[in-house]
Amino acid sequence: MLVDSHCHLDRVDLTPYQGDFKRLMEQTLDQGVGKILSVSINLEAYPAMLALVAAYPGISISVGVHPCEQAGEDPEIETLIELARHPKNVAIGETGLDYYRSQNEDMAWQRERFRRHIRAARVLRKPLIIHTREARQDTIHIMREEKAEEVGGVMHCFTETWEMAKEAMAMNFYLSFSGILTFKNAQALRDVAAQTPMERILIETDAPYLAPTPFRGKPNEPRHVARVAEQLAEIKNQPVENIIQQTHDNYCRLFGVDERLSLLDLVAPKSFRWKRKSPEIPQ
Ligand SMILES: [Zn+2]
Ligand SMILES: [Zn+2]
Repeated sequence: MLVDSHCHLDRVDLTPYQGDFKRLMEQTLDQGVGKILSVSINLEAYPAMLALVAAYPGISISVGVHPCEQAGEDPEIETLIELARHPKNVAIGETGLDYYRSQNEDMAWQRERFRRHIRAARVLRKPLIIHTREARQDTIHIMREEKAEEVGGVMHCFTETWEMAKEAMAMNFYLSFSGILTFKNAQALRDVAAQTPMERILIETDAPYLAPTPFRGKPNEPRHVARVAEQLAEIKNQPVENIIQQTHDNYCRLFGVDERLSLLDLVAPKSFRWKRKSPEIPQ
């Protein structure tokens, strides 16, 4: 079963589905995608996102405020902890650092917010979903200082160097690859993916953003995670079934998601709780 380990379901364009979210989910499952992690970007949209996905056991959620969100609430640790106690919640994020649009500004507020998210994750013993852009050194530095390795997590939509990949993996982090892997100009990233151990890889769409080739420029959807799996199969020179199975198992292990859950399976098994074994640390 395919897994989209990172998307924003409350932002996905429902126009092709006549505004019907259930229809979107049926078609997604039809294409083999059985589990989704819908990632929170701000607290204002969190209740609506929860309500949207409540009936779907195969959809998990995270809570956090994206580093680029400036208009809404900047959460205290206690708030994050409180919101993360929901049974569907499996992670804290997305959080991290993004200096892309703010090269000359003082980004101390972003670093402070990132630290609070890591602290909340450690209290909860839940993994982190980390976004990093143009902020390689500060991201690793804060992860180290705040002991992010205690909970681990995922470097989502990974586009950084092999050096950073190794540093993150040494702190119990997985790397999640998106549709960017399919872009013509992304050979450096394909090289990083080629070197990354299979037991540390997740795949994602980041829908509605970053549609893979040949859908590039169009609104993205969770079902397009199949393109990421195919691309990874090519890079790893492995059958796509292996990629699908391994990224599914990695997802369940990292987020403590029950392997039996599927999008339209409305009966949630009893063991739908966060439980996680630590992954092996690569040398
Ligand atoms: Zn992101
Ligand atoms: Zn995202």
